[in-house]
This record gives sequence, structure tokens and C-alpha cells, in this order.
Amino acid sequence: MSDVKMDDIISLAKRRGFVYPGSEIYGGMAGMYDYGPLGVELLNNIKAAWWKEHVYDRDDFYGLDSAIFKDPRVWDASGHTTGFSDPLAECKKCNTRIRVDKELEKIGVHADEKMSESELNELFAANRSKIPCPRCGAKEFSLVRAFNLLVKTNMGDFSGAITDQPVYLPGEACQGIYLNFKNVVDTTPAKIPFGIAQIGKAFRNEISPRNFLFRTREFEQADTQYFVRPHENQAAYEEIKQNRWNWYVKMGIREGNLRLKQHDNLVFYASDAWDIEYDYPSYGFDELEGIHDRTDYDLTQHSKFSGTDLSYADPITGDKYIPWVLETSVGMGRMFLAFLSDAYRVEELHGEKRVVLKLKPDLAPVKVAVSPLLKNKPELVAKAREVYTMLKKQVGKVMWDDNGNIGKRYRRQDEIGTPYCVTIDFDTLEGATEDTVTVRYRDTAKQERVSISGLSDTLNDI
Ligand code: ATP
Repeated sequence: MSDVKMDDIISLAKRRGFVYPGSEIYGGMAGMYDYGPLGVELLNNIKAAWWKEHVYDRDDFYGLDSAIFKDPRVWDASGHTTGFSDPLAECKKCNTRIRVDKELEKIGVHADEKMSESELNELFAANRSKIPCPRCGAKEFSLVRAFNLLVKTNMGDFSGAITDQPVYLPGEACQGIYLNFKNVVDTTPAKIPFGIAQIGKAFRNEISPRNFLFRTREFEQADTQYFVRPHENQAAYEEIKQNRWNWYVKMGIREGNLRLKQHDNLVFYASDAWDIEYDYPSYGFDELEGIHDRTDYDLTQHSKFSGTDLSYADPITGDKYIPWVLETSVGMGRMFLAFLSDAYRVEELHGEKRVVLKLKPDLAPVKVAVSPLLKNKPELVAKAREVYTMLKKQVGKVMWDDNGNIGKRYRRQDEIGTPYCVTIDFDTLEGATEDTVTVRYRDTAKQERVSISGLSDTLNDI
């Protein structure tokens, strides 16, 4: 497990405006977080990098953004109204609810949410003496029952109550992709095999939201669904798994902090399922992304429930079939947490401790900070403003920073992961060094003199 503590990450996130507790001024709300000014930049950069990988860099992928609200029958077809549940038990003393499979896992007993209620009750009963209530410590719990995670709404219902035919918030974002499979085939050059990528919101009535952004009740999922010919799944599945692993490494996650884990217990229609796990601070390896080989289940179900034939007439083989689906699905919050935690380092520099976020420059919330050496020298400030305005047009998010001495500014920028600091000093204004500035590099703390005209090339090249 890494030396970084989750509390350090939460504290940095709050202190520097990455992530705030949701509804904080009202005392906070379990499982809800808001992304602050720097957080939203990091989040958007991760999304952009993911989108580039799956949509822009591929010829066989198409993007999508489907509506949050869907016909309620979608969730019957997908199995969510009946089978999307977590096992819950309630402490008889203080009424705290626990997620039984996760508590069993904590004491080394294999369990998961796909087991039946009776299997879980049996396991729970056998191990009850080892599972105290996380709140009051008592070991008396109710029986385990399956608790449905879908969040219901009264959208379009004017009766004033939630009826027996509620509309749901999406329990997973990917359903929108299946609903639009035929639309994409009919309106683009897509030919099987091809994929659809989407980043969309999901909501789950999680029993115990925990570990900061790891388990929240509202989150975004970045999903890809790759449609292949029946039984032509295996090689493509292996390639997808490898590609997703490679992407995390390319984006800067240290390989030692990742691992692949195969599911022991598959849902009845799946042919294979793996998770990419990340070694999260303070609690260790857990799921980052799911990679699922789902056969023809999704499109078959939606064909049946909607009455619309979603089979595909293959122009290459001449066959007609329901395509098989290979899925990748990752929560943006978990990715954000993994990138932030992995980049967080405490180092010694010139005999002092510094916190530095070694984010890949593409992901850094601020790409360059521009400073006049002294903020009370108008000629330095004017020149620095010129450079600042120029860079804003050329290299993305730039921050003006003239607060405190230059050393403090560097420390502050290190802590938010700014890869470059540009300082305008007296040498910028005259002599042989006229129109050159100091560039200071976050990771090495090295400094070099660069001409203003060559600045954006230097920064963009690294
Ligand atoms: P877990 O076992 O951790 O509950 P899951 O297997 O139910 O996760 P999936 O339904 O496969 O998760 O969802 C795909 C991805 O969505 C997960 O890999 C994770 O990154 C993300 N995700 C799922 N639930 C949450 C949540 N409550 N908060 C944040 N991200 C989530």
C-alpha cells in the first residue's frame, strides 16, 4: 500500500479547491461532492484525454451523449428494477446500515452482491461474531435483505406521489448506448466491429458511501461498448483489456499501483469480467474500472422489451445477428481519485519539504503560472501581463500569480501540479537577455532562460 494517506488527499483537495463536500454549508450530504475551480479543470482534462483515446484516435468509435431520463421499461429490460441490489443489514442498536458483502470481504470472507439473499444470510450468520457495527460496535444485526439501488423520481408524474410506475435516474450510464445502437448504425458509416463511447451521469442509492470519491451516490461513468460478431469476442476482449491498462500507464499512473482481477462470480449472461484495480491511499486495492464481456444480452433484452429489432445485417458476411458487446466502464470520481493520489508526492527540495502533484502536463489543472518577480514594479507587471495574455491564447489554462515571494509561489504551484512557472524579471526588460523569461520546471525544479517568442513552443513540446 502506498505511503500517502487518504486524509492528505482529502485535505489537499479541500484546501486548494479541487473537491468540496456537497451541500457543505448545510452540514454536508453523504456521498455527494462538488468539484471546485481546480478540480473541474482536472476532471475535464481527464475526460478530454479519455475522449481523445476512444473517439478521436480511433476510426471505429463514435461518441454519444444520451438523456439522463429514459423510458422506465429500459430498467426492466436491463434487469435493474429486479436485480440491481446490494445486500443490506441494519444494526439493531443504532440502526446503522451496513453493506454485508463488503463487511465480509473486509474480514477475508469471499462474498459479493451477486450472491442470493439466502447465501449471504448463511455467510453472515457464520461470521457475525467478527463483524461489529462500524458506528456503535454492537454485533446484533437484522437479517440480510437485497436493497435495490435505483433512485426513483416523480418526473412527469403530477399526482404528487411516486407511483408504482416511477421514472428512474440511471443506475448506470451505458444503457443510453444500447438504446442508440440502431441510430448510430443508421446514421454513420459504423460497421461491426465498432464502438460507441459516452460519459454520462449515474445515480445509486449506495448503502454506505465511503472513501471520499470512491463510492458516491451520484457519479459520472465513462463507458465504451464495442460491438462484435457473435463468438468473435475473445481476441477483441483481450485487446481492450490491454489497451485500458496501457492508457492508465501512459497517463502517468505507476504500474505497481494497478492490478487486474478476474471476477469469480459472473452474472448469468456474461462470458468474462475483469476489473482494473488501483491501490487507493489508506485502504488499498479496489475496483477502478470494470471490463465486461457481455455477449448479446443487452441488445437482445432491449429488442424484446421495446419490440424494436436490434439485430444487425452484416454487409461483409451477409449474416443477420444480435451483436455481442464488450464493455469498459469507469467512474470519473474513481479516476480522479486515482490520478490525484498517484501524482501526490512529498519530497525534500533544497532541505525543505515540498508537496508536489506530479500530474502529466496534459492533465494538470493549470498549465503555466506567470509571475512578475516583484508585484510593486509596474514595468515588470506590464511585461508579465503581456506574456500572460499571450500564453492564455496559446497553451490553455494559465494562472496569474504575484502573491508572496517567488519561492512561495513555486511551492504553491507545485502543490496544485502546475508543470511550468514563468517569471518576468529585470533581465527580461533590457540587455542581452531582453525579452527572455525564466521557466521553472515542477518535477526537477530546474530553471532556464527562454525567449518570449519561443515560450509556447517550449511549453507545448515538453
Ligand atoms: P462496486 O463493486 O465497487 O460497487 P460495481 O462493480 O457495482 O462497483 P459497475 O456497476 O461495474 O461497478 O460500474 C462501473 C464503474 O462505475 C466502476 O468500476 C466504478 O469505477 C464506477 N462506480 C460504480 N459505483 C460507483 C459509486 N457508487 N461511486 C463512484 N463510482 C462508482
